Amino acid sequence: SIVVTGATGALGRLVIERLLATVPADRIAAVVRDKEKAAPLAALGVELRIADYDRPGTLAGAFRAGDRVLLVSGSEVGKRVAQHTAVIDAAKAAGVAQLAYTGVLGGPDADFLLAAEHKVTEQLVLDSGLPHTFLRNGWYTENYTANLAPVLEHGAVVANAGDGRVASATRADYAAAAAAVLTGEGHLGAAYELSGDVAWSLEEYAAVVAAATGKEIAYRRVPAAVHQEILVGAGVPEPFAAILVDVDEAIARGRLAGTSGDLARLIGRPTTPLADTVASAVAAL
Ligand code: NDP
Repeated sequence: SIVVTGATGALGRLVIERLLATVPADRIAAVVRDKEKAAPLAALGVELRIADYDRPGTLAGAFRAGDRVLLVSGSEVGKRVAQHTAVIDAAKAAGVAQLAYTGVLGGPDADFLLAAEHKVTEQLVLDSGLPHTFLRNGWYTENYTANLAPVLEHGAVVANAGDGRVASATRADYAAAAAAVLTGEGHLGAAYELSGDVAWSLEEYAAVVAAATGKEIAYRRVPAAVHQEILVGAGVPEPFAAILVDVDEAIARGRLAGTSGDLARLIGRPTTPLADTVASAVAAL
């Protein structure tokens, strides 16, 4: 089977949708921790395998020999090395034919806080000896467009990213790439640097939002400490605010600007333009 973990999450669900376009549902399995949340997947004929990354024993039935597996990285920062270790151990014990992992753009060279667990995980995958594919995902465009409300409220994009650029792509673009490596050949041992075709600055982002809404939107560059205060003031928990500020510093250093073209090549089309994603988000407001 083709097996997708985190299949009830935003990215995993899109990968399953994409797989269903070319693979019969009875050859697709979803590893989920919440059976009820996965009911729509079961209704599509996808096999459910119930397992929780935090309880390694539950992963024993998650994989079978010969499966092609996508490990969608966990969402709880700080817990992910233990969680991914449990998944990799289970995949190894089962003898899967491919383990694809959603890491971060830059792989071993990524030097920001959020990258640390991804780097350790890639090494764990290498050490496991499993046939693998690294999907080093850049930023989701939705990280920005899901937060349009405060931008419109204040007429400003606030960040400590300086003039750094972000080569973002949509979750659907990254999902299509994951489906391609799970169904295609020639991807074992490969590490793909996945990102949008165009790297944009926050100044340009502000202009795109302005054009889509008809409002005046400025890019307000602030120092890291000020951004941290603003985020905490808006209710973001302090440790998460620190991670976001650290991401902006990485953007300022150009760490999320790479445009290797790997994503467009894997999906066989250009990545979704920023303006299209902004237009959809504005229409949904
Ligand atoms: P989501 O939070 O929507 O999905 C995460 C998935 O992981 C969910 O299905 C969740 O299950 C599952 N999961 C979390 N913890 C466990 C656990 N203990 N056991 C089993 N399953 C678990 O994130 P996205 O789909 O948007 O993104 C996928 C991943 O990409 C994130 O988890 C994160 O690692 C990374 N990411 C990347 C970003 C980027 O810009 N490149 C931005 C944000 C995240 P459940 O549905 O039950 O909650």
